[in-house]
Amino acid sequence: MDTDFECAVIGGGAAGLSSALVLGRARRRILVVDAGEQSNLPDGGVGGLLGNNLTPPAELYAKAAAEVDGHSSVERIAGNVVTGSKADEGFLMTTADGREFTSGSVILATGMKYNHPDLPGVAELWGRDAFHCPFCHGWEARDGRIAVIVGSAPDAMRARMIQLWTDKVTVLTDGSQLDEEQLAGLEAAGITVIEHSPERLIVEEGSLKAVAFEDGSEQEFDSVMLPITMEHRSDLAAQFGARTREQENPFIIDPLEVDFLQKTSVPGLSAAGDISTQGAPSVAAAIAEGHRAAAGIVHDIALA
Ligand SMILES: Cc1cc2nc3c(=O)[nH]c(=O)nc-3n(C[C@H](O)[C@H](O)[C@H](O)COP(=O)(O)OP(=O)(O)OC[C@H]3O[C@@H](n4cnc5c(N)ncnc54)[C@H](O)[C@@H]3O)c2cc1C
Repeated sequence: MDTDFECAVIGGGAAGLSSALVLGRARRRILVVDAGEQSNLPDGGVGGLLGNNLTPPAELYAKAAAEVDGHSSVERIAGNVVTGSKADEGFLMTTADGREFTSGSVILATGMKYNHPDLPGVAELWGRDAFHCPFCHGWEARDGRIAVIVGSAPDAMRARMIQLWTDKVTVLTDGSQLDEEQLAGLEAAGITVIEHSPERLIVEEGSLKAVAFEDGSEQEFDSVMLPITMEHRSDLAAQFGARTREQENPFIIDPLEVDFLQKTSVPGLSAAGDISTQGAPSVAAAIAEGHRAAAGIVHDIALA
């Protein structure tokens, strides 16, 4: 097959760099294109990543990129892939700055956009005192006063979960999102429920001080756990024609359907990391999936 590259890795976060390392070590001619906006960059440190627990994300990605760059068959560029389609041979892609290239296979590792409530103060604390994932930040928030903002009924379950890290859990809801049974369940679990709406987070010296409510009251907290939704960053997967997965988790919108080697419904197109998450997105999972996706492609190249 006469393409510019044997594989194009789109996205250079945990998943993409993991794929690139495996492909580089397999001496494959690949291109990595990365827009440089890994979702956890605001985080102070990656929680729960074996061997790199609490390493600042930017440091982790710089170290990983340097490891990838040590392989002469790998080209890695900054850029944003804006079009992608199946070509006669492999795939054709273009970047926002006009570079056009072809590749025999593609790994989509573009991550997902995390949408959180738009309360003033959240952006400033996002990934630290304002977090969404107990596995990522529960340890740092342990024994503190945690406010859990409930956006829908399943969030009530998250309030129960964070009780494993602290017994000072308060659910914040405007009263319209939980029914009587759910409220009674929280109360029975020893969780305080505040039923008026949070208006903003009060931040002092970069830390959460309190939550201010619409009725003018304030209550002090050490951290706040937020509901999120995850959605595609662009329509690139749809341009390639990749099928999305039917699934029950309402918080993850249209993850790609993949098999055990991360192959999508489009032959030659694999996906790894958040874009195809099975429901527990993490850096460790993204690294594992990127590794598997690359191994699958190397296998296909060897047997072609
Ligand atoms: C605030 C926050 C804190 C978190 N904390 C933790 C934690 O402590 N521990 C943990 O395990 N997990 C944590 N996570 C989850 C974890 O960050 C993700 O599961 C993981 O980073 C997903 O990796 P990824 O490679 O799929 O995506 P990303 O890391 O988001 O990387 C995708 C890359 O692809 C690039 N890209 C996107 N589209 C294109 C395109 N069209 N062309 C070129 N490049 C493109 C992006 O700019 C980005 O650089 C956190 C998430 C958030 C939002």
